[in-house]
Amino acid sequence: MKTRFAPAPTGRLHVGNIRTALHNYLLARREGGTFLLRIDDTDRERSREEYVEAIGEDLRWLGLEPDETARQSQRFDRYEEAFEKLRAAGRIYACYETPEELELRRKVLLGRGLPPVYERKDQDAPVPEGRDPHWRFRLDHDAPIEWEDRIRGVQKFDPRLISDPVVRRADGSWLYMLPSVVDDMDLGITHVVRGEDHVTNSAIQLQMFDALGARRPVLAHEALLVAAEGKLSKRLGSVGVEEMKARGLEPMALLSLLARIGTSQPVEPMDDLDRLAQGLDFAHFGRAPAHFDMAEVEALNAKLLHAASYEEVADRLPDEIGEAHWQALRGNIAHLAEAADYVPIFTGEIDAPEPSEEDRTFLETAANLAEGLPFDDGIWSALTAALKEETGRRGKALFLPLRLALTGRSSGPEMAAMLPLIGKERAVRRLLRR
Ligand code: GLU
Repeated sequence: MKTRFAPAPTGRLHVGNIRTALHNYLLARREGGTFLLRIDDTDRERSREEYVEAIGEDLRWLGLEPDETARQSQRFDRYEEAFEKLRAAGRIYACYETPEELELRRKVLLGRGLPPVYERKDQDAPVPEGRDPHWRFRLDHDAPIEWEDRIRGVQKFDPRLISDPVVRRADGSWLYMLPSVVDDMDLGITHVVRGEDHVTNSAIQLQMFDALGARRPVLAHEALLVAAEGKLSKRLGSVGVEEMKARGLEPMALLSLLARIGTSQPVEPMDDLDRLAQGLDFAHFGRAPAHFDMAEVEALNAKLLHAASYEEVADRLPDEIGEAHWQALRGNIAHLAEAADYVPIFTGEIDAPEPSEEDRTFLETAANLAEGLPFDDGIWSALTAALKEETGRRGKALFLPLRLALTGRSSGPEMAAMLPLIGKERAVRRLLRR
């Protein structure tokens, strides 16, 4: 099994491409196969080296590193060979129409209620003077196209209703269609997972595989991803790894969503790619467009952190946050960077609000009681029980002034988990407001 992800380096990856990359990655991983990154840089005008690098970095950050990489710009010789082979076999032919002529013909056909399919010219017709040809692939009109799509089921196309595709421009440059087939053939791609905007391309490309005597890959075309309506919705084209980083989100939060969005399987927070790979099943993929919502990534991010072990995050936490600190605070953070906000509470200085006169006395009582109690795991319940007894306070009147004085905040992680970590000396000082 060998899959590939084939972005054009004309921009950063967005969640739509990331989903395609992920599914190809997971499929290869599930089967112990190979995941290839193919840079589709035949368009020299629009391709940029900075995007080639950004794509590599984004995949690395996501954890979707390819096992192999190929670049179309280094494979022009091979396209040339395939081109010549197909031309010699009569499957590629020269065309001389201008875009204006083609457009006019299209309109005429549409006006007559006919499908706007390219009409082949008589190949013996005189060549218009002073024009260089561009080149089309001749579809075999007598070979109906059919395949069993892993997501869409049986797909059937009548080649007579598809225009012979242009494969090469008059200046010799390549269009997408043929190089992709030559690559899939040469690089041994067995499975192609991509968006359903490529379904008609696939119909054409299958005839190209056949014409080149190559084995057809298994095809799976997924429904497109669209932005969910709502406050967070944005054009999806701009939502990618940069935005994830800016929001401080974990890669697995995005991948957990993208693996399952638009399928009938539940979206669950998953902390490793192996589990996602084991769960991949095209039989569950739906045909309707999937709605992407950043709020879902945010929610998954919080769930992943709430369940994350210390080992998983330790190298990205401030030194002051040890295992016990992490256990205490993980249930209260939505982004890993928030862990740093707790460093002053555990080990530094806090800025607590001024208590009322009455609370000040209460806090002094608390300080005195705390002095005499062991600061073990039970300190919070021992201290509050003793305070209740001593002062008669209960509920919020008992707990809130303590939380404010000890952490500087009115809400947060369980005090029972935090107080032993704050320690007696620091706690007493804070209660006495020193
Ligand atoms: N470069 C093409 C694209 O991004 C690749 C399509 C394919 O998967 O073959 O649409």
